[in-house]
Amino acid sequence: MKPYAVGIDLGGTNTKGGVVGRDGSVLVKKSIKTEAGGGADHVIGRIAELVADVAAAAAVGQNDAAGVCVGSPGPLDSRAGVVHEAPNLRWRGVRLADMLRPLVAMPVFVENDANVAAFGEAWVGAARNSKCTILLTLGTGIGGGIVINGELWRGVTDTGAELGHMTINFQGPVCSCGNRGCIEAYASAPAVARRMKEAVESGRQSCLKAQLLAGEEVDSKMIYQAAVGGDPLSKEIIEETGQLLGIAVANYVNIFNPDYVVLHGGLVNAGEALLGPLREETKKWCFRASQRNLRVVPSELKGDAGIVGAAGCAFARAEDNS
Ligand SMILES: [Zn+2]
Repeated sequence: MKPYAVGIDLGGTNTKGGVVGRDGSVLVKKSIKTEAGGGADHVIGRIAELVADVAAAAAVGQNDAAGVCVGSPGPLDSRAGVVHEAPNLRWRGVRLADMLRPLVAMPVFVENDANVAAFGEAWVGAARNSKCTILLTLGTGIGGGIVINGELWRGVTDTGAELGHMTINFQGPVCSCGNRGCIEAYASAPAVARRMKEAVESGRQSCLKAQLLAGEEVDSKMIYQAAVGGDPLSKEIIEETGQLLGIAVANYVNIFNPDYVVLHGGLVNAGEALLGPLREETKKWCFRASQRNLRVVPSELKGDAGIVGAAGCAFARAEDNS
């Protein structure tokens, strides 16, 4: 068994790479600009350079590495290593694995980015030793991952675990997917900012009011910081976000009866202001028996979840192939 793997966390703006050991420890990590505007060839060339950089910095030769796994925005085909569509990268039908393989001297694997984060948390993070982990990434969108008995549940065509598109209100706002009332349309970072703006425009008071009415950008981080600082409207928006997420989480709990639900992403820094109402609401909407062993917790791997999880997937998949 090779002792190391390289995990790549491919994002629209930044790409992170790291060399990770069998125990999940990060030996070396580095972040670079993705430069998505340069096209897929350019981005994949930069990933190959990043792999070489971190491997050299960790003094890990190709014979010591089980492989490299790229956690990519999706939807994608994890077996073929093809990214069907990634709007932030302006990618469509990119044969990521085939293009990267000749540039790196190790096996190449591709997984959905939220799936690798879920795998990482279940492997060595907040949900270690769990039987069933449900993970939500709260960001520009809401990604989801499901890990059952240490294995990813990807669905039959790799499009399962789209937990952000759980509908909580069929008459709700239009979501990026085209449906209405998905949890993503309420609790993604832009959706939280939109709900705050709507509240101020309807006449509510807030310390962020002047900025919002002047058309300045107010992001979800500013809102949860204002909430923690005591702004009543920001508190209300974060509390309501927790409640709405709690309804979605209760749905996942009723389906999967997991032992861990892990929340990942910047908004989780709001802490108990978000998680408290989320846990309360989850309790109200799910079966009592399923609450007994349920833990709703923030990510432990945080910003490293992508690289650690991707490396973990590389170890797992290299073993499957051998
Ligand atoms: Zn949706």
